Amino acid sequence: MAEQEPVNIDDLYADATHWHVNTGGETIHAKRMPGRFRSLKWYASTLWILYMITPYFRWEGHQAILFDIPKRQFHLFSTTLWPQDIWMLSLVLILLAMTLFGLTAVIGRVWCGYFCFQTVWTDWFTWLEDKIEGNPVQRRKLDAAPWNARKIRLKLFKHTLWLLISIVTGVTFAAYFTDAFALWHSYLTLDAPMVAWVVLAAFIFGTYVFAGFMREQVCFWLCPYARIQSVMVDKDTELPTYDVARGEPRGKVRGAGSESRGDCIDCKLCVGVCPTGVDIREGMQEGCITCGMCIDACDSIMGKVDRPRGLIRYASEKVMAGEVLPPLFKRPRVIAYSTIFLLAVAGIVYGMTHIPPVELSVVHARQPLFIQMGNGTVQNKYTIKALNKTPAELHFKLTVEGVDGIKIVGEAGNGIVLEAGKMIPFHLFLAAEPGVLKGKKMPIHFVLESLESPVIRMEYESVFIGPAGY
Ligand code: SF4
Ligand code: SF4
Repeated sequence: MAEQEPVNIDDLYADATHWHVNTGGETIHAKRMPGRFRSLKWYASTLWILYMITPYFRWEGHQAILFDIPKRQFHLFSTTLWPQDIWMLSLVLILLAMTLFGLTAVIGRVWCGYFCFQTVWTDWFTWLEDKIEGNPVQRRKLDAAPWNARKIRLKLFKHTLWLLISIVTGVTFAAYFTDAFALWHSYLTLDAPMVAWVVLAAFIFGTYVFAGFMREQVCFWLCPYARIQSVMVDKDTELPTYDVARGEPRGKVRGAGSESRGDCIDCKLCVGVCPTGVDIREGMQEGCITCGMCIDACDSIMGKVDRPRGLIRYASEKVMAGEVLPPLFKRPRVIAYSTIFLLAVAGIVYGMTHIPPVELSVVHARQPLFIQMGNGTVQNKYTIKALNKTPAELHFKLTVEGVDGIKIVGEAGNGIVLEAGKMIPFHLFLAAEPGVLKGKKMPIHFVLESLESPVIRMEYESVFIGPAGY
């Protein structure tokens, strides 16, 4: 990705007056520079392209990933998860949380700096702003200039592109909950349901305002993760760190006394490139999203003044104090997060390999508990619910086992047809001949067997109830 012009050190001091610590009072116009971490940030943000294109993937005739809320189904390629399987989604959330916590414990807010949608969308928006309105100095001048045809043209162009990105973001989100192509058609023909318009409006507003205007202020004031990250980092966590011992006393690269100064030439480029306006030389701060832009900036300066790179670098508090960083497997936080992560993975793998194709549930009627017929037989009533979670129609036979002499009344257990993705509820009666019952409550179990595939066999424990002393 093309970036801005190389840094001219003589210009830096002239521009430095514009760079100061962000207090939220004005828009930050961060300088964009090439570098290792800048490239990494671009690569990381391209992962969000997957978010944009995933709803258009098809799999076995349906949308590959679809949260079908009306039908209460979650389609994930060949697998369909039902509300009964929601515990697996909980495990996925735990897994994602542990990944986030673990990475934070090791290398700080890497999620914030490289992957977070707020950071990534803001980066895209400011990249466009940079291309349209110019570098930070030009942008500040444009903002301060009176409105004229050029300013209107540039602002209009920028805001139009921002809105287009916001619209695509909103439609994409909605497309995870309904057929993506049909959704686009319904929006373009103004035929979308109200809920689709509300979702779209909310996302357009949120994306446009958060990424276009609020930017780093969202991280400062709205994001809960920024608040809780301090409990995840410790003295072993590697964070962008200014080497105070090497950099101080800071001062201009030339002039009287320059030979006795530290390596920091006080150009403030590290502040000028910071998307949140932090001066990392003042130590780690809440606003730092560990994006590494200041490292790229300072490395470029060190190269130009012929001093070693790494004045700002990823380093832990322990390492900066001259101690040795312990290996990952000896760090309690990493062990704890990794253990939970692995348990979540094991749970998900178990769940995915053991999802039953059919769900069976049986409810014994309460009113009355049993009916005694004129010929002495006792009958119990049950409500059967059978859910076919596969994409094909299946045929079943229902039987009852456990007590000889207890049978299904009539033909209710034969020829049960379960439509694909549907649940059928029905009632049936069990009858016990006189002398069969050996107690007031007899354990039985229902067996639902597929006529097409014997491996599809579900059992459900229940009871048969009779009169006392029968
Ligand atoms: S730390 Fe590096 S980039 Fe920042 S002011 Fe000093 S020399 Fe410039
Ligand atoms: S201080 Fe450096 S690492 Fe932290 S947010 Fe600013 S540029 Fe990124």
